[in-house]
Amino acid sequence: MSFSFWEQATFHAPPRLTIVGAGIVGLWTAIHFKRRFPKSKVLVLERGANPGGASVRNAGFACFGSPSELLADTQNEGSDAMLRRVEERWRGLLEMRAELGDGAIGFEQTGGHELYASDSPLYKRVEEGFDKLNDELRRIFGEPPFRWSNERIEAFGISGLLHMTRTDLEGPVHSGKLIAALLLKAHEHGIQFRWNAVVTELSEQANHVLVRLNDSTVLKSEQVLLATNGFTPDLLPDLDVVPARGQVLLTEPIPGLRLRGTFHMEEGYYYFRDLNGGILIGGGRHLDIEGEATSNEGTTPMIQTALESIVREHLCSDASMQVCMRWSGTMAFGSRSKEPLVQRMSDRIGVAVRLSGMGVAIGIRVARRASEMMSE
Ligand SMILES: Cc1cc2nc3c(=O)[nH]c(=O)nc-3n(C[C@H](O)[C@H](O)[C@H](O)COP(=O)(O)OP(=O)(O)OC[C@H]3O[C@@H](n4cnc5c(N)ncnc54)[C@H](O)[C@@H]3O)c2cc1C
Repeated sequence: MSFSFWEQATFHAPPRLTIVGAGIVGLWTAIHFKRRFPKSKVLVLERGANPGGASVRNAGFACFGSPSELLADTQNEGSDAMLRRVEERWRGLLEMRAELGDGAIGFEQTGGHELYASDSPLYKRVEEGFDKLNDELRRIFGEPPFRWSNERIEAFGISGLLHMTRTDLEGPVHSGKLIAALLLKAHEHGIQFRWNAVVTELSEQANHVLVRLNDSTVLKSEQVLLATNGFTPDLLPDLDVVPARGQVLLTEPIPGLRLRGTFHMEEGYYYFRDLNGGILIGGGRHLDIEGEATSNEGTTPMIQTALESIVREHLCSDASMQVCMRWSGTMAFGSRSKEPLVQRMSDRIGVAVRLSGMGVAIGIRVARRASEMMSE
């Protein structure tokens, strides 16, 4: 079929930037880029009928890191890298709230917490490093962000865990509303979308990039940015991006539930919150790191059982508690770093990927860097 002049000029003119992936990073990058070049055509290609990646399958914590995770990050990557990342997450959280509004994204500043068993080695490590960490973080927040809050554990109906830290600065969002608000903003900016468009191959030419889709369509674009996070290895297998599946379950509403806010355990490997009157809990990837290094969707009995055990042991002893939903999503890590990867792969192709387990707050900042990179 041949196109008309109108089709060619309106829908098939090569975009100045094509972004692959309609998650938090892809959508914010499109918005930032379009603000910079309002007259340019910006196209987002998404393989799902709607955004289908981690951004809509996560736990919805708008967070910057719990003490045990930040101490582990310091040990693995040094204090400067840890502080830089926390600052980016914190700034991102403030920017996202200012841009979209708390109501539109369901943000509630209920506080973020981390829990420890009384005699665990992890608790000892956090106890030892707590004051120094708080002191280092003071330069970002203007005050120490964390405090011990053991006395509130019981009020949340939590049992069997004796120590808790709290920050007032975090809270949950509604991840569906967040993406819906971003889509609305993207539409207001005149960004174009093509859904059910799986990119299978990119081929850079002298003046453009050819983008091949699974239905054999080939699109032309001046530049392409991959915002494909955990699915990046499908297109760039040599890049240091390791997919990591995160599993989640949600219980039916629990009468009299007192849990409120976001909660972490074990360096962020477990996390839970109240949602819809029930408990959402996720994590357990450390129980099978190799098996969970996959972008395949699915849940496994071992990890789901571990998640249920935490609920029953610490959060709800009611034997009639029922799980109503289970799902998984794909994160992306570097083999040695949790640092997001924003880089040009060639003259016309760039990536903004590898958001680790905490992309909600930092996504807007990663996207700004990506937009600047693709503007150069
Ligand atoms: C279970 C789970 C819980 C999490 N909980 C939290 C949390 O509480 N707080 C937090 O801050 N972070 C959390 N995260 C991490 C956070 O969700 C991610 O870091 C963030 O959403 C990444 O955004 P993104 O835009 O980079 O990637 P994604 O949202 O994954 O977007 C990538 C998009 O690219 C599309 N795509 C991929 N390949 C192609 C292709 N070939 N062609 C076309 N489209 C393609 C995908 O369909 C997808 O929509 C969690 C992640 C998971 C999995």
